[in-house]
Amino acid sequence: MAQCQLGLVVPFTRNCAAEFQRLLGSLKHVKSDVSFIVEPVLIEGHNLARARNTGIKSLLETCDVIACIDADLIIPPGLIDKCYKSVMNSHSNYWARMRDVDCWRSMFWPLEQKTWDEWKDAPLREGGRGSWNAMRPEEWIKSGGFDERCWGWGGEDDVLHETLAARGIPTFREDRFVLAHVRHEARPWPNRANENIAITKPTEWNWLKPNGHMTFFVTTICNRDCVQCSAARTKRAMPNYSMSRKEIDDFFQATAESNYRFESAVIVGGEPLMWPNLEYLVKQIKDSGRFSRIKMYTNGDYCGNLTDDAAECIDTIVVSQHDSPSRKERLVERFPDRAEVVDRTQFRVIIDHYLPGTLPANCCCGRCGYMYFNERVYICPMSSENFLAAGRNGNSVALHKGYLDKFMSVDRLNQPMCARCNSNSHVFKLVETVHA
Ligand code: SF4
Ligand code: SF4
Repeated sequence: MAQCQLGLVVPFTRNCAAEFQRLLGSLKHVKSDVSFIVEPVLIEGHNLARARNTGIKSLLETCDVIACIDADLIIPPGLIDKCYKSVMNSHSNYWARMRDVDCWRSMFWPLEQKTWDEWKDAPLREGGRGSWNAMRPEEWIKSGGFDERCWGWGGEDDVLHETLAARGIPTFREDRFVLAHVRHEARPWPNRANENIAITKPTEWNWLKPNGHMTFFVTTICNRDCVQCSAARTKRAMPNYSMSRKEIDDFFQATAESNYRFESAVIVGGEPLMWPNLEYLVKQIKDSGRFSRIKMYTNGDYCGNLTDDAAECIDTIVVSQHDSPSRKERLVERFPDRAEVVDRTQFRVIIDHYLPGTLPANCCCGRCGYMYFNERVYICPMSSENFLAAGRNGNSVALHKGYLDKFMSVDRLNQPMCARCNSNSHVFKLVETVHA
């Protein structure tokens, strides 16, 4: 898509198609020096916030300014140009007020100033901060987007403005170029303004970024017993764990119900090539369309177990180099474009105690995100090693719809587990000092 100055996100439902057409008709008559495109997004599950976020995400790379507008509005002449200049100059959120009007005489009625003058006596709405919100992509990302815990309609705009204030993004209210909201029958979905405002205290959650990586810890079984094994405690705690197909199915059902997407899927163990469900999992990951890529960590010894069908789905195969013979060469020969070799003998040994003064963590874990293991989702791929081996289920939740919600308000880098984790550079610098 070519770069555009302004992108307009317009959520719509199937039964407001006529309103949407009316909005498009009004746009035809907007005389603007600013190039703009319209991004319609179907509202699913009565979640207006999610639909807006979907539209914003699809325009982040291609528009200088992104504005959200509802389908039942009409855009006044001058608003697009004024909004664009204001946002580009001030780096603020620009929101425009609206007034209710009874009807729109014709979809193609020219939008001249005198038309708007006729409506000047209609009172301005006091609320309605969701009518038009526009920011640069940088500010949208910083804002975290609309809070998707809101559903139905109402309140999601108030929550956005509260979050903007909490994150230091200024707002500019436009009183001159006022939108027209054409009255219509009540929507067949609930007004939940009070509930939405009540449940959605601003969080650190960012709805516009994918949810990091999801690590699948598929088995604790492994033919080796390396001293540097970063899964050693988990393997000792559950020596014969092997993720079942039912666990895999449950994960994808809960993930679809929650509408989550992840940057990548990372498959670890134990040894994934000793696990019988590898092909089943990678096909589920691929078919779900919820992951951008798949990476697998293996010691390479059972490279003959990797079927061509499974390998076809995996983007990166990380093969450990050990101080004893391994079959890594066969994997590297077979997949020269996808295999990466890491020297496991250089890995740091995991420490047993918490090191004071190491928080907040400076995390250099390349798999930053979550982990699925034994029907639970953990806040970090290192969680099971740090907690399950200690006999606790800390920082984890049983799989259910919305399984990441619990982690929204968690300060990830200030967790006690980070104070013993060798992915925290504050920790391994101290360990290296101690070892030296
Ligand atoms: S091969 Fe990997 S999983 Fe197996 S013991 Fe060694 S480091 Fe741990
Ligand atoms: S430093 Fe904290 S967030 Fe990073 S990998 Fe370790 S436990 Fe996880």
